[in-house]
Amino acid sequence: MNENETAILAAVDRFLEKDVRPHVREFESADKYPAEIVEKMKALGLFGCMIAPKYGGLGLSSSTYAGIVERISAVWMSVSGILNSHIIMAMTVQRHGTEAQKDSFLPRFATGEARGGIALTEPDCGTDLQAIRTVARRDGDEYVINGRKTWITNSLYGNCVALLTKTNVNANPPHKGISLFLAEKHEGFNVARKLDKLGYRGIDTCELSFDDYRVSKSMLIGDAEGRGLQQILSGLELGRINVAARGVGVADAALKLGLAYSQVRKTFGKPICEHQAIQIKLADMATRVHAARALTQRAAEAFDSGRRCDMEAGIAKLFATEAAMENSLESMRIHGAYGYSKEFDVERLYRDAPLLLIGEGTNELQRIIISRQLVARSKE
Ligand SMILES: Cc1cc2nc3c(=O)[nH]c(=O)nc-3n(C[C@H](O)[C@H](O)[C@H](O)COP(=O)(O)OP(=O)(O)OC[C@H]3O[C@@H](n4cnc5c(N)ncnc54)[C@H](O)[C@@H]3O)c2cc1C
Repeated sequence: MNENETAILAAVDRFLEKDVRPHVREFESADKYPAEIVEKMKALGLFGCMIAPKYGGLGLSSSTYAGIVERISAVWMSVSGILNSHIIMAMTVQRHGTEAQKDSFLPRFATGEARGGIALTEPDCGTDLQAIRTVARRDGDEYVINGRKTWITNSLYGNCVALLTKTNVNANPPHKGISLFLAEKHEGFNVARKLDKLGYRGIDTCELSFDDYRVSKSMLIGDAEGRGLQQILSGLELGRINVAARGVGVADAALKLGLAYSQVRKTFGKPICEHQAIQIKLADMATRVHAARALTQRAAEAFDSGRRCDMEAGIAKLFATEAAMENSLESMRIHGAYGYSKEFDVERLYRDAPLLLIGEGTNELQRIIISRQLVARSKE
């Protein structure tokens, strides 16, 4: 990590302690959108953290990005969600967009003026994206889009999404008929409702409907039909590294809370950290954090090198997110009844962690990706 990257991580730490940590409980319990925090994130340049400097971004490596996400998630995971799907959208344009799309969108993505996420999931399909039903029909120099999306993060307060559609419903295999558009909010782009969630609160996750929504053909990413699934899947590799980093942050926060509590809570005349059953929990939790962080860094390094890294990202995502789930439960056990109280932060970690098992591809899907790659690479 160079001096610049170290300075950015230090600035993120200061922002988290001053502008985020004191307000988490207020925003979280009210499920209130942290607009002030988003403005501070814009000022720090975080929305452009991986966008190339020539488009006004910070041009950070994914290793540094993972470091930022880990730090944010250790304080409040929802804030990392404000960033993640926005970055996937931006990186998809940076990697696959036309020069005109890069020039028009990347500078606005970098400042956060245009902000949003990715709209892939539909009411009856999430893992099996080839089954999407949202259709984009060509009409002269435009496409007319109809369909419904759900669970779309950043879609109420954001103003743009990367929208996965079918431009050919009869294509065989189906992915050859899938195309990705940049969809800015205007007539026909409707937010149907904001979803009420177990955790990951404060951030907007919504159901969307596209009703005769018209876009210019210049919004087709890469100006090529039939490449949408491939384009978004390459963005999801980075998304999985991000989710792994969130897992590290949550797992580490759970460990730190459990460790601190175990030194002040006494039973049978001594702090509970001196009971062997608690020591075993702490040791296992710490081991999971260290292993999850190492796997996440390894995946980020593979991404930065430009190598295919779906297996590395899948392994990191699988391990780190299961670590977050296990550590939040173990920390809750260490806290006894207080872990069940809204007055202690560990209950929020326990509610936030399960999303990580689902988002950016479920952990069942990660296992499929990992084993397929194991087989494929063994034949190389
Ligand atoms: C808080 C939140 C935010 C989200 N944000 C976004 C967003 O911004 N954009 C977006 O597009 N989506 C978003 N999602 C949706 C998320 O990506 C999907 O929920 C996820 O991909 C799983 O899809 P599904 O819920 O339809 O489950 P399904 O695909 O219906 O799967 C149900 C179960 O079956 C398992 N399964 C499916 N296929 C197989 C198989 N072949 N083998 C073994 N098991 C299998 C799954 O692992 C899962 O356990 C979000 C979800 C949540 C909860």
